[in-house]
Amino acid sequence: MKDKKIPTRIYLTEDEIPKFWYNVRADMKEQHDPFIHPATGKPCTAADLEPVFCKELVKQELDCTTRLVPIPDGLMEFYKSTRPSPLIRARFLEKELDTPAEIYYKFEGNNTSGSHKLNSAAAQVYYAKEEGLTHLTTETGAGQWGTALSMACAFYGIDLTVYMVKVSSEQKPFRKAVIETFGANLIPSPSNTTDAGRKILKEFPGTGGSLGCAISEAVEVALKTPNCRYVLGSVLDHVVLHQSIIGQECKVALDKYGIKPDIIIGCAGGGSNLGGLIAPFIGEKINGKSNTRFIAVEPASCPSLTRGKYAYDFGDTGKMTPLMRMYTLGSGFIPSPNHAGGLRYHGMSPIVSKLYHDGYMEARSVKQTEVFDAATKFAKVEGILPAPESSHAIKAAIDEALECKKTGEKKVILFGLSGTGYFDMSAYMSYRDKSMTDYIPTDEDLRKGFDSLPKID
Ligand SMILES: *Cc1c(COP(=O)(O)O)cnc(C)c1O
Repeated sequence: MKDKKIPTRIYLTEDEIPKFWYNVRADMKEQHDPFIHPATGKPCTAADLEPVFCKELVKQELDCTTRLVPIPDGLMEFYKSTRPSPLIRARFLEKELDTPAEIYYKFEGNNTSGSHKLNSAAAQVYYAKEEGLTHLTTETGAGQWGTALSMACAFYGIDLTVYMVKVSSEQKPFRKAVIETFGANLIPSPSNTTDAGRKILKEFPGTGGSLGCAISEAVEVALKTPNCRYVLGSVLDHVVLHQSIIGQECKVALDKYGIKPDIIIGCAGGGSNLGGLIAPFIGEKINGKSNTRFIAVEPASCPSLTRGKYAYDFGDTGKMTPLMRMYTLGSGFIPSPNHAGGLRYHGMSPIVSKLYHDGYMEARSVKQTEVFDAATKFAKVEGILPAPESSHAIKAAIDEALECKKTGEKKVILFGLSGTGYFDMSAYMSYRDKSMTDYIPTDEDLRKGFDSLPKID
């Protein structure tokens, strides 16, 4: 009966897009530990962060009390060009799995950048424009963040310099071309445009670069250029806040049909799409109003939640950022080079880390060949080519649905489909020709990363 009324795609109208981001910290019983300034050993103040980040974003970063943060009109205008994103009932996947479970996914890949990252990119660029800044810098690894940010900068008319890890810019020339088409200045990192880059080039002449090095270059340029700041696409609390638009929209759409999810699943790299998807739902759980299960899914090759330590660590390999307490493998941890599934970050959002630490959430890790099995199964029946990152969530959703098949339970499963995989075809190809392998770090491998943890606490 209920099934008949629920459309396959649950759309919201423009006017039904929530007007507020939801700040889950306002409902958390305990806050995560503050950022620590590595030089002083004291909690970071707004004044410490403002030379690097936009003022309003620093304010949002440090605000643990405002529950609902209004989405400014000038940003809503941009959001409406790609949002609301569809919430889709995976009827064909349910049929394929022959499961009594209902499966829904929130699809964030319906914009040219191909992922949820645009939600925070647009917000950050909007505030930069409001503050009168004219230039932004960032780094990008695989390229999704750089693409999203270049789109947002084109829309608001802000100059953007993207330091892209050199090997990625060579391996993904089409990503580079898209970023440049949107008008950004893309510089393969390490480069001779910064002191940090020149130093690394001198020490390691043929290096393919790293995210840590690209961050150092982007921050250096932000500090040295007038009217310029640095922006980051995941991990930080203000990014999770912006991504709460995903969960807010889901909640409105599900409430419309009286659907209550039993399980909510998201992939976790830095934790922003997961944190945003679950935010309003986990708020209800904290307040004793629901008993939903939340599952973070990460790669077995970069298992920060499931095998990492809850400790203060740097956000980057270059050890330039403030220290954050989070689940981490150590900023010196380097995932295996044959890992193609994304989600390679050594740490995890402090908000997601704290929620997990306090027992509100579960985490599991999955192997990359299993992830591509799930991606392929999903693509065939649902007709969307998922990003490898998002496919971690698909894998866990399939496993939960198959569990329901065993027990006969008719659970409602919601997962985040954070993006599409069109630029990841070489990973799909290596899966298909079976050259893809599963690498799981040994305890000894992990120890090397843990040895890089700063000695404080
Ligand atoms: C960047 C990215 C992720 C991982 O980042 P989070 O901050 O953990 O969300 C996941 N999926 C896609 C499609 C991405 O581009």
